[in-house]
Amino acid sequence: MKIMLVEDNDAIIMGLEYLLTQEGYQVYTARTAAEARQYSERESCDLVLLDIGLPDGNGFALCRKIKEEYRIPVIFLTAREEEADVVKGLDLGAEDYVIKPFRNRELISRIRSVLRRSGKGSVLLRCRDILLNTETGKVKKGEEEIPLTRLEYKILLSMMSWPGRLFTREEILADIWDVSGNFVNDNTLSVTMKRLREKLGDSDAQIIRTVRGMGYRMEK
Ligand code: CA
Repeated sequence: MKIMLVEDNDAIIMGLEYLLTQEGYQVYTARTAAEARQYSERESCDLVLLDIGLPDGNGFALCRKIKEEYRIPVIFLTAREEEADVVKGLDLGAEDYVIKPFRNRELISRIRSVLRRSGKGSVLLRCRDILLNTETGKVKKGEEEIPLTRLEYKILLSMMSWPGRLFTREEILADIWDVSGNFVNDNTLSVTMKRLREKLGDSDAQIIRTVRGMGYRMEK
């Protein structure tokens, strides 16, 4: 998956290039709207991360062009004071927006969700005999459907999106908080993980591994 990052702030560029590459995305950075236009004319990409305040204009005109001509999903990266403008961005067809400074996990989770919604992410995730369908939100173990709570589903979805990757408790908590809008404490997380394992028939923690003192890891 290729992401075009349109941003003029060096610190943000450095951080995002590192983060996105770590997550397996190819990144092309444009520092101006003109550069982004030139790039879009010769290359395709799967998603655009678009800053609103650019040296040669704002990101809105660029967003309009990207949507009209290339139909690529757009996520606005916006400063707090530009939040009111975001409605305008969404009216132009942008899929989502993230307020700077953002948490890395939050951004990655939004990118994945936008890619999934636009049909670019995988719909069926599999780990061992567990199958998760991101379109229907259904989880199966073998042939049997496993009813999950929203919280359990959200955690499983994150972990199944990156099998083998360590998810720290802090990361999981940050992710959950983003979705439900409610604060979830550490104890609730432990209880939820226990229930999730029970439902998945994983009471001996062979599928969702505990990494002591760190967090959890889904077996590949
Ligand atoms: Ca800027």
